This record gives sequence, structure tokens and C-alpha cells, in this order.
Amino acid sequence: MKLIISNWKMNPETVEGAMRLAKDSDIAGLIICPPFPFLEAVAKTIKQAELGAQDCFWEEKGAYTGEVSPKELQDLGAKYVIIGHSERRQNLGETDKMVAKKISAALKNNLTPILCVGETRAERDANKTQEVVARELTIGLSLVAKGHNPNPIIIAYEPIWAIGSGIPDTPENMLDMAKFIKETLKTNHYELKAKIIYGGSITSANVKDFLKHKDIDGALIGGASLSKEEIKKIVEISKNI
Ligand code: PEP
Repeated sequence: MKLIISNWKMNPETVEGAMRLAKDSDIAGLIICPPFPFLEAVAKTIKQAELGAQDCFWEEKGAYTGEVSPKELQDLGAKYVIIGHSERRQNLGETDKMVAKKISAALKNNLTPILCVGETRAERDANKTQEVVARELTIGLSLVAKGHNPNPIIIAYEPIWAIGSGIPDTPENMLDMAKFIKETLKTNHYELKAKIIYGGSITSANVKDFLKHKDIDGALIGGASLSKEEIKKIVEISKNI
């Protein structure tokens, strides 16, 4: 089965709105990542979808004002956590080393990390895509135990220029990147149960072009996940592939 993950980002504005959207998107096979303040309400609303968060801190507890620990997320029922989203890297200065600590903490607390990697437009134009993604993977996974690792991990390839732009990457390039990501993981001796998914301007109109390929394990959906019609269609399409 393909993985479909909703990233609501900092939406909607109220807990009522979050509960409404959760009820309307409560579909088996969907992972919903709401903002932190709505996690508990969404957890109580969904019966079929699964819960994820959009970030976590690397410590389990302590004097870290404003941070949220993987343990706290797990206690609320989250099973997944997005780590290293480009909006955090670009707007908040999140570094590969911070990402590495978060991935390790998430795995230790039995959360499945969704590690986001991807290049800017300038990096793509300068033919630096593979260099950037290799660095993000190698440092981002550097604290994960080498060799056999029983916990799964999801790698989301999200070219930054494709996020929210209405211009997705091509499925052909995504296939090349999926291959490259697998090779990079192997070269670094990570025997991870990795799933490789695509993110960036996915809608019900283009999702099939990506998911019909067996090497693309799913999609991370931002904007379209806020529309109940769109997200239902996307999950439906993913199930019929
Ligand atoms: C994202 O932010 O992870 C994302 C994929 O956004 P969008 O679908 O809006 O491009």
C-alpha cells in the first residue's frame, strides 16, 4: 500500500476547524500531521487515519522552553513525525546536525521519522541536487545505528521549488532520485527499512503519475491536504493503483 501523508502546516486556525478537517479526512491509509496544539483533538476525532506530528525535539524532557519531545508525541498517539522539512530548515535555521539528533530521538521513541530532503531552485540549476540530497541523508542519518535497524524510516524527496508552487517535479526525475536515495543509503551501510516518497505540489490530478511507479512508495501532501475533496480523491487513487 502507498503512504499518503497530510502535512497541514500551520493550518487551520482553530481547534474546531482542525476537528472538522480531521473528521472529513478520517480515511484508512492516511497519516495526518496537524499542528501541535491540535494533536490531541485530532487523535480523539480520527478512527481510521493515523496520527503524525510536524517536528519534534531531540530530548525526552527538561528545560527546553517551547519544544515538544518525541515521548510527548508518542503519549498523544502519534506514530509518525516529519523531520527536517524545508520550511524549518529555511525559516528557522534547522541544520543537518539538528535533524540527525531528531531522527535518532524519534526512532528511540518508536516514532517513524519522515525525513525531508531536497534542493532549492538555484541548487537544481547548478546541478547540485544529488550533492545536497546526499549531504542531507548522510548527516541526517549519521546518528542512526549502522547495520541492521529494525525501525522503519520514510524519506520524502521534496524539491523546495516544487513545494506550494503548483509546479511538481517530473515522475521521471523522482524515479532517478528514488534510485539515488537507495544507493546513498546502501553506501552508508544503513540497512534501513526505508520507504521513499515524493512531495511538492501533488494534487488529485497528478498523484497517479507518481504513484503508478513501484519505486515511489507514496506522497507527502501540503496544500491539497486542506481540501477534504482533494485528500479523499488522492487516497482513493492511491488505493486503486
Ligand atoms: C510540503 O510542504 O511538504 C508539501 C509537499 O507542500 P505542497 O503539497 O503544498 O507542495
